[in-house]
Amino acid sequence: MEKDGVVIGLECHIQLNTESKLFCGCPTAAEEPNSSCCPICLGHPGSKPVLNAKALDYALKVALALNCEVNKEFFFSRKTYFYPDMSKNFQISQYEIPVGLKGHLVLSTGKKIGITRVHLEEDPAALVHEAGMGASNFSLVDYNRSGIPLVEVVTDPDFASPEEAQDFLDQLTTILSYLKVYSPLTGTLKADCNVSVYGNSRVEVKNVTGKKAVGKALEFEVARQKRLLLDEREIVRETRSFDEKTMTTRSTRGKETEADYGYIFEPDLTAIQLSSGEIEEMKAKMPELHAAKSKRFMKEFSLDEYTANVLARNFNLGLLFEEISKSVDAKAAAKFLTRELMAVVNRSELDLDSLDLDSGEIGLLLEMLLSGKITEKVAKDAVVAYLAKGVKPTRFVEGRGLSKDLGEKEIEKAVEKVLSENKKAVADLKMGNEKSLNFLVGQVMRLTKAKAEPRAVQKIIAEKIRK
Ligand code: ADP
Ligand code: ZN
Ligand code: MG
Repeated sequence: MEKDGVVIGLECHIQLNTESKLFCGCPTAAEEPNSSCCPICLGHPGSKPVLNAKALDYALKVALALNCEVNKEFFFSRKTYFYPDMSKNFQISQYEIPVGLKGHLVLSTGKKIGITRVHLEEDPAALVHEAGMGASNFSLVDYNRSGIPLVEVVTDPDFASPEEAQDFLDQLTTILSYLKVYSPLTGTLKADCNVSVYGNSRVEVKNVTGKKAVGKALEFEVARQKRLLLDEREIVRETRSFDEKTMTTRSTRGKETEADYGYIFEPDLTAIQLSSGEIEEMKAKMPELHAAKSKRFMKEFSLDEYTANVLARNFNLGLLFEEISKSVDAKAAAKFLTRELMAVVNRSELDLDSLDLDSGEIGLLLEMLLSGKITEKVAKDAVVAYLAKGVKPTRFVEGRGLSKDLGEKEIEKAVEKVLSENKKAVADLKMGNEKSLNFLVGQVMRLTKAKAEPRAVQKIIAEKIRK
């Protein structure tokens, strides 16, 4: 390690996207402040927490995806502190034995980052500093947030730059969306950012919200500490907070220590026990994650590494690609998605996860382009209209009068394709199942984007079946 090398470790708190809270049945989604609360999440004396099985399942998935050793027996602990955001004066968390330990995540550069631990805990309430209400005098408390399940991922101090920490968060959120345990649009991601310059005291920037802010907070903090050292001043071990308006960090309070938190075993919840068999079963059920998917895309579709990575980085984009490549040349589909589609997404700063893209529609557009029915310019315009205004590509092309009705030969081609791809329905139809006929006609209509006459399609299918 170089003398002025930067050392960074992250403690990431990610909101799990369960429907109800961690220890009660209150919904996690609520509009009115303090409308989703009960004696448990309000911390009333005598109320008893009950563990949300789904949240536990999600936390286990995260631990496994991060290559952690999953503990066969773990329990919850009370982390005691006094603050209005936690009315029972302790947060139910995990301390001594968490869900998972000793994992790792590989950055896009290939560097391995150690995962110290993965644990499950409840979110405290939100403190609201309402503007225009004499904000300097008081704060409001919204207990809707109290009891929302969080998974905490603590890394080893393995990052040597803010860029590496940023890369980690990108990889982590991709994994979380593949696991379907985190919704970036509605869920929060907060990190405590621990920063030091080799050999000096460590500073913890608490509660930084969002990936971008983490990058900014780290950059500022690294620069601040290096400047202090250049001036031969001492870096004090302290907790700081990040101000998003000024993009700076400032000292908040002395650092709590373990003794301050006075962790004790949570007596209202039983310890959780898993058998080796149950853990093995969970491992076997883990979905393919983006690194594996990217490798598979390279092998299965002969894509280059960059293209495969771009496609796999977003779960929905990867899915879209696989759907489209069932009917269109995979390389052409990959090129179209990573260049044309992603160009529009990036230029307009759209969020791929909030777009509901129909693979059938995009596939048809691409087919029209590849068969020379429409020009590249029209295809690009169609993508813009689809992503920005939701105009379906087939509609867009029709509206411009660029596509004509299909002739008998083209319908025949479409029928042949559908019949060869739906062997079961064909067999059923031969057995006299009329429903299968409707299904097959529907498939042809889809494939021809309703540019064929259904009666003509029925007739051609009947002829082909008889042969
Ligand atoms: P706490 O925040 O409760 O003191 P730890 O001491 O376990 O908890 O450390 C938490 C975080 O601090 C971890 O993410 C770890 O990687 C990071 N960390 C530990 N040592 C250093 C260091 N010298 N510089 C920067 N980060 C560090
Ligand atoms: Zn509740
Ligand atoms: Mg900490």
